Amino acid sequence: MDRNGALIHVEQKVVEAGADMRNVITSTVGHAPDAPSVVTTGCGIQVAYAMTSVHPESVTCHACREHARREYLRFADQVERLSRMAGAAFTVDQATAATTRLRDLARRFST
Ligand SMILES: [Zn+2]
Repeated sequence: MDRNGALIHVEQKVVEAGADMRNVITSTVGHAPDAPSVVTTGCGIQVAYAMTSVHPESVTCHACREHARREYLRFADQVERLSRMAGAAFTVDQATAATTRLRDLARRFST
């Protein structure tokens, strides 16, 4: 945090914000998300995209860290469920790799 109290937030759709998750997202919802100039944060305000981060170590807003942790855990569960369905868009191995990564990110946001 700097003297002006400018915090670094996460996007409300924090899970979709990570470029490395785009493949899973694309195969789940059918399109890759754009990076807009102004975004709604996990704590419910609007900030410039530059004031957000997908890196747990960079996010200084406590409410956003909590939001990100919950969202990553929720999405990990969702990916796990989808991977068990017949005709899933990705393999169980891909899902396992993704959920491991998502839960690791969630853990890093919780510290
Ligand atoms: Zn925030």
